[in-house]
Amino acid sequence: MNIFGFHSVVKSEKRAQRHLRKFWRKNGRVLCINCGSPKVYQIPGQRYRCRRCKYRFSEFSGTWIRKLKIGSAQWLWIIKLFELEMSARKISQQLDLSYPTVLKATNLIRQSIVANSKDRNWLQGEVEADDAYFGGKRKGKRGRGARNKIPVFGILERDGKVKVEVVERLTAETICGLTVKTVRRGSIVYTDKYHGYDSLMFCGYRHLNIDHSKRFASGKVYINGVEGFWSYAKERLIKFHGVSKNKFPFYLKEMEFRYNNRHRSIFEKLVKFVCSPVPNHL
Ligand SMILES: [Zn+2]
Repeated sequence: MNIFGFHSVVKSEKRAQRHLRKFWRKNGRVLCINCGSPKVYQIPGQRYRCRRCKYRFSEFSGTWIRKLKIGSAQWLWIIKLFELEMSARKISQQLDLSYPTVLKATNLIRQSIVANSKDRNWLQGEVEADDAYFGGKRKGKRGRGARNKIPVFGILERDGKVKVEVVERLTAETICGLTVKTVRRGSIVYTDKYHGYDSLMFCGYRHLNIDHSKRFASGKVYINGVEGFWSYAKERLIKFHGVSKNKFPFYLKEMEFRYNNRHRSIFEKLVKFVCSPVPNHL
């Protein structure tokens, strides 16, 4: 949704609410949030009751947006400015909301991205795998084995999506384990010369590598795609001035989501995510 469409949606609180409601309902229908039954009727106080399991609930109960008490138009504004990559500090200035409120909202958006981006589709064909190191002190050792840095493993399908994961330590086991979960067997996996990647050959893949100390590409053997993602993510994460270690996976998944949707508007998807139920374990 571009700025003009957005403008008409946030013109009044009522319109904003109506817009959110569209995303909360499933194909226009209210379903019981306890048992999923569509046999639901309205009771006073803008609440619903399920005919099947007798459960009573109100609009948006159990969703991400319910975790923060701000108006519907304010929520939509935060999502729009988040889409446009504005910092929480600037959003709070623009919307006259407190910084902690906006920070909480943007963190809820990130959590909803993680909860909703469990993509079960395999990466396949020609894929590139690589690792990168984020955060920590800038001085000292860089790259593999660097202290205070968070190791991340990434796999990218050429002309397709990227999937990234924070890892404890990059070992042959983690490489194999994560690749098997993500990439269809029989695919070609390109990597650099790091010995940990040699294990891929034994996990059902055709493995080809390039020695970066000598050159960056040899015919189709290169990992420029996944390296492009690392610079995309690092360039954006730098403005957060050191995200804490426990929040980092959420910021990383935000980058994965942005990158995979970089050719389209993500506003509608984000609205849908925050209107979705918070999973039980969170
Ligand atoms: Zn029910």
